[in-house]
Amino acid sequence: MKIPTNSVSPSDFIRDIIGEDIKTNKYDGRVHTRFPPEPNGYLHIGHAKSICLNFGIAKEFGGLCNLRFDDTNPTKEQAEFVESIIGDIRWLGFDWEDRLFYASDYFDKLYEFAVQLIKKGKAYVDSLTPDEIREHRGTLTEPGRESPCRNRSVEENLDLFERMRAGEFEDGAYVLRAKIDMSSANLNMRDPVMYRILHATHHRTGDKWCIYPTYDFAHGQSDSIEGITHSICTLEFEDHRPLYDWFLDQLDIHHPRQIEFARLNLSRTILSKRKLRQLVEEGYVNGWDDPRMPTISGFRRRGYTPEAIRDFCERIGVAKNESTIDIALLEHYIRQDLNKRATRVMAVLRPLRLVIDNYPEDSVEELVAINNPEDAGMGTRKVPFSRVLYIERDDFREPPPKKWFRLAPGREARLKHAYIIKCERVVRDEKTGEVIELHCSYDPETKSGEAKAGRKVKGTLHWVSAAHAIDAEVRLYDHLFLKENPDDVGEGSDFRANLNLHSLETLTACKVESSLAGAKPGSRYQFFRLGYFCVDPDSSDGKLVFNRTVSLRDTWAKIEEALRNG
Ligand code: ATP
Ligand code: MG
Repeated sequence: MKIPTNSVSPSDFIRDIIGEDIKTNKYDGRVHTRFPPEPNGYLHIGHAKSICLNFGIAKEFGGLCNLRFDDTNPTKEQAEFVESIIGDIRWLGFDWEDRLFYASDYFDKLYEFAVQLIKKGKAYVDSLTPDEIREHRGTLTEPGRESPCRNRSVEENLDLFERMRAGEFEDGAYVLRAKIDMSSANLNMRDPVMYRILHATHHRTGDKWCIYPTYDFAHGQSDSIEGITHSICTLEFEDHRPLYDWFLDQLDIHHPRQIEFARLNLSRTILSKRKLRQLVEEGYVNGWDDPRMPTISGFRRRGYTPEAIRDFCERIGVAKNESTIDIALLEHYIRQDLNKRATRVMAVLRPLRLVIDNYPEDSVEELVAINNPEDAGMGTRKVPFSRVLYIERDDFREPPPKKWFRLAPGREARLKHAYIIKCERVVRDEKTGEVIELHCSYDPETKSGEAKAGRKVKGTLHWVSAAHAIDAEVRLYDHLFLKENPDDVGEGSDFRANLNLHSLETLTACKVESSLAGAKPGSRYQFFRLGYFCVDPDSSDGKLVFNRTVSLRDTWAKIEEALRNG
């Protein structure tokens, strides 16, 4: 696993290339990038890396970045995905101003480009079936074979291509291919397909077209039409670069420079829209924005901030070699950000009733609580304290294990913001033996924050006043996959075999402090001792629902410490 260093390097190989191009005045010193998602799913954290890179570079160099939907495959693309992608990029904090484009905007222009290549003798209509084309293609060690249609006349090619467009033929009857080199060592250069017949309705162009350009033909030409200078993409397109360059050279049009970088891989995470789609469609998760999903919308619902995701993307940087980043690093960034901004409150996830026998029956005290010790500007609030409270079931043990600083019969602990209490008596269910109530005494001389704060005890517990607490549901999450690499499976199996079937735990009888009444979806809190939580949109007037964004324990800090100590 790659361990990124702590120092954020201001530059990287891509920024170096661009800096050099500016120096030599290539593209008249302009920098213009684009983010080109295919609208066939929701964006994931890998896309966030690409978004931060493309928009970030444009900003740093005083340039522009376009958003372009690469919508050349009508069978897999949907308007729902377009909308989610737009919302996600905005949420991440990036702006394409008036430069929102679609590859489908260029279908007429791309058709013209194809005709130009036919006229130059650089493209031909092939009648081989898709299977035959694959078979003629050869392998890495064997050259391909030329199609018998390769030397059709320009006139015949123009006529057939026109009729393909007019809808005369069935799907798969013909394709348009570039005429390059069937013996090239690079399989992408063996007369790649440029257009295929597809009688399918497109989400934007409707039924206007029944032929659609392939990614390879559409992408570079779209970049060129938009005046892109640096076309940044992931490493799997490195072998496509000669083809990217070939089309632009043959057409003799503006020629952007393609630069490849290593995609983001995250431990215990799948970053492939196809596989994420499988998780959604097969019901392993509750939709694309399930808080366990590594999608931008999943992270948003989980309580992540755009700042944390951007900081993470900046920290991991870009490289030319594939590697896997520990998901603990991403969690480290969200903790760091929420530590600064989240109000500290008290919530009890598994309530145990606690009665303070020597506390006046009808008395309620308003105790002062600091909202965020990291930020005095966030102020204080009042927390009601009374005779009957709830504490966390886990905070009582009988008999207490070694080094137990919480409650047990006869033991003392401090209640956060309140008093030191002592456990005097335990009430058990007669049948099951389960502990159902604790009876305690409190020491009025030990009130927190008062000068004579009195004795010290080691353990401090969170609590809520039973009469004032609000009911809540809390959803706790674990990683979706059990293995570091979810694709590490035996033969005949796939990533689904590594799914963690206990990745969601729903607690429905939680109690949260009264200041959370009316909390709006998206509000973020630190529940004292329990982690960071965010109000879920499933909340209604009658019921608050929280997602745990992340626990408090920073495993990344431990990893770094271990590294420092060798
Ligand atoms: P997936 O494999 O998840 O379907 P994709 O590459 O097919 O991803 P696109 O919509 O085509 O998805 O990607 C848009 C842009 O995001 C491309 O430039 C692509 O290179 C980049 N991208 C996709 N996945 C990652 C990743 N894991 N890390 C960095 N960039 C990525
Ligand atoms: Mg793709």
